[in-house]
Amino acid sequence: MAREKKIEEYDVVIIGGGAAGLTAGIYCGRARLKTIIIEKSLVGGLATYTNEIENYPGFPEGTTGLGLMELFQKQAKKFGVKFKGTDVKSVELEGEIKTVETFRTTYKAKTVIIASGGRPRITGADREEEFLYDKGISFCATCDAAANTGKKVMIIGSGDAAIEEGMFLTKFADKVYVSVIHEEGKMDCNEIAKAEALDNPKMEFIWNSVVKRFEGSEHLEKVVLKDLKSDDEIPIVVPTCFEFIGYIPNTEIFKGQIDLTERGYVLTNENKETNIEGVFAVGDVTEKFLKQVSTAVGDGAVAGVGAERYIAESEMVKTQILAKEGIVFAYDASDGKSHEMLKDIETIEEMAKGKFSVTRVDVYKSKGISNRLGIHEFPKLAIIKNGKVHAILNEEFSYNEVVNYFN
Ligand SMILES: Cc1cc2nc3c(=O)[nH]c(=O)nc-3n(C[C@H](O)[C@H](O)[C@H](O)COP(=O)(O)OP(=O)(O)OC[C@H]3O[C@@H](n4cnc5c(N)ncnc54)[C@H](O)[C@@H]3O)c2cc1C
Repeated sequence: MAREKKIEEYDVVIIGGGAAGLTAGIYCGRARLKTIIIEKSLVGGLATYTNEIENYPGFPEGTTGLGLMELFQKQAKKFGVKFKGTDVKSVELEGEIKTVETFRTTYKAKTVIIASGGRPRITGADREEEFLYDKGISFCATCDAAANTGKKVMIIGSGDAAIEEGMFLTKFADKVYVSVIHEEGKMDCNEIAKAEALDNPKMEFIWNSVVKRFEGSEHLEKVVLKDLKSDDEIPIVVPTCFEFIGYIPNTEIFKGQIDLTERGYVLTNENKETNIEGVFAVGDVTEKFLKQVSTAVGDGAVAGVGAERYIAESEMVKTQILAKEGIVFAYDASDGKSHEMLKDIETIEEMAKGKFSVTRVDVYKSKGISNRLGIHEFPKLAIIKNGKVHAILNEEFSYNEVVNYFN
């Protein structure tokens, strides 16, 4: 017999427990929002693959990715954030209450924060899956450089990450082979990195090549490249192959609901809001200039505060603004036209006494409430009747017109 799915209700559901999701969790938990982080694999995300993080502020001696992420999780737990280790299968994000589906549970939430990060792109060559991560195919030079001291290693790719990580590897390995898909001399990295790499005697470039297959028994032993011009095989004996050929955002489950870029990253504004009200996105899953722990942390903080404000404003609209008959004056305190209209609002306030309510909403601080009322230009006056926005008036209204709505 099929088991019935459990339903759990939260203020905030965070999808993904990497640096961005954990930080959003810390902010939401501290704001006393009922918050859960759903993580399908290791809490801490991609940063846990990094043996040493030297550029995260506050750790002058450096720290391990795992150690740093454990501290993040400890802090989130301290503020009452719950954790669930499972895969989010689908989401329904439109509307006031959002739904997040996992295998056993349906989570209902007032807001959702997408923090699902991404994963390294792989070559798709034969037998690649057998050697991923700890079996010889690595995506982290920092993690696996020391283990390759005095050995020969291979890099796939010629972008900034490939070349900079390759240069780093030359401090440990005797030889760093670099497989480049392009013609001799053409690389995807910046010019400075390119010049340094071409000058480095430990780096050997194999131009016009792609990976054909990986070979080995328990562990990787050989990478077989294909020469794109001659079709010849080029076997290279290495215990570790580092792949740096791009990154794929984990956004498959959001397609069709959330606006994504051509490459599949989530589009947000500077407040980390997506195209759907009450849905935020943070960290590596978003289109951004710099994908690092420190920027993921910044995003998480912004979305955490945004989620808190969104919930508070939704509550205010429901329990205070739509609950009573009256007008809402949405204005921008920094705008002259709004200032002129404030005098009219004072007159209306006099006329309204005991008959209907008058609420002023300054959109200079936040447009959250006006957005929910469907007011996107200012100044405007909304007539609230029967629990909804009955009409929106511009600055040319007459006092009689306003009062008549409530007679
Ligand atoms: C090899 C390597 C070295 C790096 N070195 C550094 C460094 O030295 N300094 C630095 O600042 N940054 C470094 N970075 C970058 C840094 O790790 C990332 O920018 C950061 O981890 C991004 O955090 P995030 O929370 O956005 O995403 P992630 O860390 O990717 O976390 C996303 C999480 O979401 C989970 N998830 C995805 N889909 C689902 C789903 N459907 N259901 C449930 N959970 C889901 C994933 O399992 C993952 O744990 C490095 C990255 C790599 C790969």
